[in-house]
Amino acid sequence: MSGKHVSHWIGGRPWDGAAERRGDIYNPATGQVTGTVDFASATVVGDAVAAAAKALPGWRSVSLAKRTTVLFAFRELINAHRGELAELVSSEHGKVTSDAEGEVARGLEVVEFACGLGHLLKGGYSENVSTGVDAYSIRQPLGVVAGITPFNFPAMVPMWMFPIALACGNTFVLKPSEKDPSASLLLARLLAEAGLPDGVFNVVHGDKEAVDAILTHPDVRAVSFVGSTPIARYVYETGTAAGKRVQALGGAKNHMVVLPDADTDLAADAAVSAGFGSAGERCMAVSVLVAVGSVGDELVAKIADRVHGLRVGPGSDERSEMGPLVTGPHRDKVASYLDTGVKEGATLAVDGRMHPIIGGDAGGFWLGPSVLDHVTPEMSAYRDEIFGPVLSVVRVPSYADALRLVSENPYGNGVAIYTNDGGAARRFVSEVEVGMVGVNVPIPVPMAYYSFGGWKSSLFGDTHIYGTEGIHFYTRGKAVTSRWLDPSHGGVNLGFPVNK
Ligand code: NAD
Repeated sequence: MSGKHVSHWIGGRPWDGAAERRGDIYNPATGQVTGTVDFASATVVGDAVAAAAKALPGWRSVSLAKRTTVLFAFRELINAHRGELAELVSSEHGKVTSDAEGEVARGLEVVEFACGLGHLLKGGYSENVSTGVDAYSIRQPLGVVAGITPFNFPAMVPMWMFPIALACGNTFVLKPSEKDPSASLLLARLLAEAGLPDGVFNVVHGDKEAVDAILTHPDVRAVSFVGSTPIARYVYETGTAAGKRVQALGGAKNHMVVLPDADTDLAADAAVSAGFGSAGERCMAVSVLVAVGSVGDELVAKIADRVHGLRVGPGSDERSEMGPLVTGPHRDKVASYLDTGVKEGATLAVDGRMHPIIGGDAGGFWLGPSVLDHVTPEMSAYRDEIFGPVLSVVRVPSYADALRLVSENPYGNGVAIYTNDGGAARRFVSEVEVGMVGVNVPIPVPMAYYSFGGWKSSLFGDTHIYGTEGIHFYTRGKAVTSRWLDPSHGGVNLGFPVNK
């Protein structure tokens, strides 16, 4: 078999065993197989966890200053290899290279946040809580922790997890998506080059078998998961039943509400950018435009105008604004919503199947940007997470109807409101049942020093990812009550300790 061969990274080096199972890696722009990736068995996962467990005592006793020094060096290396990383992502995912560079930049923000972790890992201290007694609290690492990540951000989503986990003193096992596995290996190599000791960061590739082995391994203390809602629910239930701490971020159906007073040019620009960037394969992509009152016709016309002008082509071609979808089956599933939508009563305002592709089809997993108008909440295009370049337009008479629609949706990842009415926007922010809200901002991904996470079926678990909640997730608190004996101490007392 020609093409690249991607394997695991265990104990600070590439794995050199013979895999029992492998998967194909595609170039989505041509549909060609470009290589294979090894799938880890439970035994291989066990080896990675053992390497992480062996490295744990050393890493957690390395000073906080030294741990963050490694992350500072890693930051420099990511910057130096930014283009290479983006090209790798683009070649296996299909997104345009400039978009892949954006994902690397957003991941880097979390690395930078983790570089300053010392400030946030501080505990509290209370002097003389009882006579001669001091009390303080510290946060300690959990041990070996794991991350399981989706195909759509093969560099950024792992970087939401491991920089904070490592800075807190944990060791890490990453199971990236088998669809675009190469970015994780470059990250592993750069961490090693930055001075991370062997075994502190490990990568295992694979599918359900590897995931199940992580979820049931007794030495894995916590699991961060990002992916679709059914798998997130499964990971949460299986991991917590095995006694692990789990944060499992799931799928999304993000609405963009446009009130009648909004600037429709601004709103149309935002809807097209957020709906079709990365071919709609973003968990924060806008997939439903909610046109309130009379704004619908003008908005759909302006959106259609812009969509027709989008340049669709290979991620590596500088002219391309939108690339192909990740796999053939996924493209077919996304495209099926166009016919189903029309059958269920929607209007196909823009049919992406007709969209020209720069350089021609070449057998890639192409689907141009599409707009389904007059969608209603009963239709499958509204109910399902399509995760592709299909923007549904739902028309509602009033603000109250828009709010109800968004809040009653089972997902609650992101939402945006477009308006010039500050009072309406403020009320929306307060009332809407969604975890991340944008006011005239279509993709409100929080900065690294806030935390990322949705509500309802978009997140299972108690903590959001990265930011201060990430630090809490990867540490546990210890409260210490301390007395250094002095001459005033004395006597046995069987009573419950009370403050004196
Ligand atoms: P996915 O759920 O298919 O896969 C995610 C991970 O789970 C992968 O590592 C995969 O190998 C593994 N997996 C797949 N099937 C499994 C199974 N049956 N048992 C155990 N593990 C399994 O998701 P995807 O298609 O890679 O990514 C797209 C999804 O991720 C979308 O639903 C998107 O909304 C979601 N996503 C959510 C966020 C968020 O922050 N909430 C961010 C990015 C992506």
